[in-house]
Amino acid sequence: MSKVITRFPPSPTGYLHIGSVRTALFNYLFAAHNNGEMVFRFEDTDIERSKVEFEKDIIAGMEWLGLSLDAANVVRQSERTDLYKKHLDILIGKGVAYEAEESEATPGAKVIRFKNPNRKVTFTDLVRGEVTFDTTELGDFVVARSHDLPLYHLAVVIDDHDMNVTHVIRGEDHISNTQRQILLLEALGFERPAYAHIPLILAPDRTKMSKRHGAVSINEYRAQGFIPEAILNYLALLGWNPGGEQELFTLEELVKEFTLERVHKAGAIFDIEKLKWFNHEHLKKLSMLEYESKLKEFMERHGEKAPDYLIDIVPELRNRAQTLGEAAEALRVGEFSFMEKDITVDPLLLVQGAKTDAETIKKNLTVVKEMISALPEGKLTAEGAKEIIFPYATEVGRAGVLWPLRVALSGKEKSPDPFVLLGLLGKEVSIARIAEASQLL
Ligand code: GLU
Repeated sequence: MSKVITRFPPSPTGYLHIGSVRTALFNYLFAAHNNGEMVFRFEDTDIERSKVEFEKDIIAGMEWLGLSLDAANVVRQSERTDLYKKHLDILIGKGVAYEAEESEATPGAKVIRFKNPNRKVTFTDLVRGEVTFDTTELGDFVVARSHDLPLYHLAVVIDDHDMNVTHVIRGEDHISNTQRQILLLEALGFERPAYAHIPLILAPDRTKMSKRHGAVSINEYRAQGFIPEAILNYLALLGWNPGGEQELFTLEELVKEFTLERVHKAGAIFDIEKLKWFNHEHLKKLSMLEYESKLKEFMERHGEKAPDYLIDIVPELRNRAQTLGEAAEALRVGEFSFMEKDITVDPLLLVQGAKTDAETIKKNLTVVKEMISALPEGKLTAEGAKEIIFPYATEVGRAGVLWPLRVALSGKEKSPDPFVLLGLLGKEVSIARIAEASQLL
């Protein structure tokens, strides 16, 4: 059997779209699973809409996702006119393509049409089974604007042949293109690749996912703090069923498991909450250092500086933020400002949620301070602090201990619980803050 070659042929007419990434991913997984290769080219025959800016974005996005494209050897349809011309001449020579009027409406304008043999075309789609089209309805369709300007169908057929593509895996919106492409490739004497038309990604309202449903470009997901591991994992499951209970996959695991037999026919609904869940799970798999460096990099990309104490609060952030964006937001709004050197404590706030009077609060804070002082140096962990303080708080009334303790340590109405704060701040700072707060009462 010849080497499996799939392809990713984006049109650089927009930023890298999440749907394109899903198609690319399926091509990538199928190729890698079969020890093959995914080739790539820019389909930029639409010169008006194709932009270098979009090419760059597509390459950068794929690189970021870990599905690197061979950017050094970019193939552009716009640079392959000679190749298309050669084949167009063959078709014309054979009498199966001819120059003709574009339409009655534009007399004088010429195009090149393909002489439709008007027959049925049947192919076995690896997802949808046997598919038959009657091509009669297509008439003699246009294959080139001129000898120098081939249109999409002709260019695709020639490129796929030239790049030795064995499997065309693409969105099902291309299924009706396949009949034209098969007619063309047969007229050119090319071998037919295998086709697999995969279901489209649908918005929750079951229409094709588009801008009005929210983010569609990979950039936007990146800017929100989704990470490649999660995006790829989630997209793989949109339309493909791994066949077991496992939901979390690394790219290597996906490569190992992926087969086209388990791709569904029905459209796959995109659920942003589910993507967030995957993102959170993949963030939790990172080591402290990996998380720290990812968040740092993320914040720097957005012109923000990560605080020096970032590493200390990674476990907290990782626990609660589903995206890097949420983690950065928590830092931005000061949820971790208790980690700064100086905090201010409002005496009224100390009492506000304590459900008891200032004198009792003061006493409670003193007891807690002594408990902490009695602990051996360096032994103040959140669990350790909870073990000694919680029974006391339960005995004398939790609100009267835990509320002022939390406010004394954070200065905030909202913050992580006091045990977490004690663990993060350490013995020395905690004792100093409790003492200062007591003096305010
Ligand atoms: N350039 C086409 C697109 O971006 C891909 C066509 C194909 O896969 O044959 O939709």
